[in-house]
Amino acid sequence: MLMENGLELRNKVIDIALKMSRSGMAPATWGNVSARDSETGYIFITPSGMDYNELHPEDICVVDNEGKMVEGKWKPSTETPLHLLFYRERPWIGGIVHTHSIFATAFACAGKSIPVVIATLASKVGGDVPIAPYMSSGTEEFGRNALDAMGDKTAVLLANHGVVAVGNNLDDAYTTAEIVENAAKIYVISNSIGTPLRLDDNEILNIRKKYLTKYGQRDHKEE
Ligand code: 13P
Ligand code: ZN
Repeated sequence: MLMENGLELRNKVIDIALKMSRSGMAPATWGNVSARDSETGYIFITPSGMDYNELHPEDICVVDNEGKMVEGKWKPSTETPLHLLFYRERPWIGGIVHTHSIFATAFACAGKSIPVVIATLASKVGGDVPIAPYMSSGTEEFGRNALDAMGDKTAVLLANHGVVAVGNNLDDAYTTAEIVENAAKIYVISNSIGTPLRLDDNEILNIRKKYLTKYGQRDHKEE
């Protein structure tokens, strides 16, 4: 019998994994997705190397914060040590999306961070998307390398590999992954038209602050 209250989170992990796959941000079975249950602290994560279109709620792996399997019949994602480290070291994180999206990964393969030339990147990431130096993946050390490079941002490029985006929940992390990919694409197109102009550092801070405090319904007071 699966944990009663876990069904919603299992479905959410599948939902976001499917969105990521169908948007082209994760080819075949690459990439992975996880969410933290705020009540138990357990991590719900995609199984390794399985077709996203074939996932059922019971296929999602549930592990504790040390990686011990709580529920699940499959081997969890090979990047589980990275996800666990991110959750342990950033208690505010509720969801993580790891993609191999094409334009952002192209920056990662060129060894370049993505400069903020578009305001949405300042809103969601809070600055340029930094890049972690190359390291073989699948270990906690690899996670540490990524987290150190990410610092106080919400996304990081993994050299010669892909992207990690985080959020206070899985929808938020997914939006960040989308914005990172769009920003990389926009930069490349803009660069073919002219010289993309990076936003000023003060303006980046200003945009980020406005996003966190006022964007959407955040400051809306019901009459
Ligand atoms: P998993 O299928 O094990 O999650 O691995 C995919 C991946 O992108 C590894 O970096
Ligand atoms: Zn990967």
